[in-house]
Amino acid sequence: MLKMISPDRALDMVRASAVRRDAIQALSSAAGGMILSESVRADRDAPPFARAMMDGFAARLADAGREAELVGEVAAGQAPDTEVLVGRCVHVMTGAPCPPGAQVVVPVEDATVIEDRVLLPETLQLGKHIAPRGCECPAGSTVLEEGQVITPLTAAMLASVGKFRVKVYRPPTLAIISTGSELCRPEDEPGAYQIRDSNGPMLVSQARAAGYMPVMTSNAADTPDSLAETLQSADRADIVILTGGVSMGRYDLVPDALRAHGVSLLFHKVTQKPGKPLLFGRKGNRLYFGLPGNPLASHLCFERYVLPAAQKMAGRPARLAVHRGSLIRPLAVRTSRTLFLLATGRFHDDGLEVQPLPAGGSANLCFKQLANGYIRLDPGEHQLLTGDQVAFQFHGGA
Ligand code: AMP
Ligand code: MG
Repeated sequence: MLKMISPDRALDMVRASAVRRDAIQALSSAAGGMILSESVRADRDAPPFARAMMDGFAARLADAGREAELVGEVAAGQAPDTEVLVGRCVHVMTGAPCPPGAQVVVPVEDATVIEDRVLLPETLQLGKHIAPRGCECPAGSTVLEEGQVITPLTAAMLASVGKFRVKVYRPPTLAIISTGSELCRPEDEPGAYQIRDSNGPMLVSQARAAGYMPVMTSNAADTPDSLAETLQSADRADIVILTGGVSMGRYDLVPDALRAHGVSLLFHKVTQKPGKPLLFGRKGNRLYFGLPGNPLASHLCFERYVLPAAQKMAGRPARLAVHRGSLIRPLAVRTSRTLFLLATGRFHDDGLEVQPLPAGGSANLCFKQLANGYIRLDPGEHQLLTGDQVAFQFHGGA
């Protein structure tokens, strides 16, 4: 018999069981959100030549306040074919290489062009509007470290150093199994005592919102055979998520089905509300989560346990960002378990404001979609007033 454990202990056990996936090669442009498993160096100096930073005139300092003869032009991508000597200047475009001898680029708007002569300003500053070769990063220098997340700016950096393919940690694959003989598909007309499977689409959306693609979604009836067959086909996923069938009912067969499948169960039941019947196990490096069927319990358990496991497997810091926010209405509760209350958090000028949703039981979905996070309240009696601080966690772990 597995012992009931605290939510923090449960999260520790989940994290300790999650093993980072192997590195794979991915197209840099398709690797957004993934974690680099190699460091990346500049393949050449950046910029690769002294680059004009403005459309203007490359000139010599000695010509300050004087007219210089316009002797040529360099566009971006062209090779300069004229030298800048005292008394002469060259028209350069933004991104063009500055010709040899250029000491300054005078922006077009600061110069006066009189036919083939250019009147330069009274004061000129050495190097102004010229980015010297290699000033951003010299060839061979590290531009991205192993462990960095690939953001759109990272993708730009990778492209600029010619990294078309990059090594990243493979994000885990997910299988989502809705269990329950009472379930029908959302697109079907339910019988009088059937309900539509809403947890399946919810968990798929939670996974996708966090950047994970489920490789399998399936339904299983409350029979050992149906569960065994579905678990078998989920063997290609790194994380198998079942909803329903983990409580005390006669047809809650998920724990036995997991054991029969060779899964070692690590905990069953957590002192939290919602989500007390949560079940967790592993087989090799594959993790199994048995989420309670009540929609709000499944939702919380995915956010609080599945997501950190997936993050760690993907090589991301497996951190749950907990914010402090001030309540915008009083909240009085007494709880023997750690309570996770759906709430709406909004940033205002003076910080995060948190509005708890009206209470309504973990089976009641109506209006709950307005929430964007959870308030956490530890066991005890809470008489909170407007303005009091609470711990708040945004959905998606942000
Ligand atoms: P269970 O955890 O299987 O005892 O289910 C608890 C409650 O959640 C029951 O009222 C189920 O009908 C409901 N439930 C279970 N699975 C789902 C699902 N996939 N979608 C919506 N409700 C569900
Ligand atoms: Mg059930």
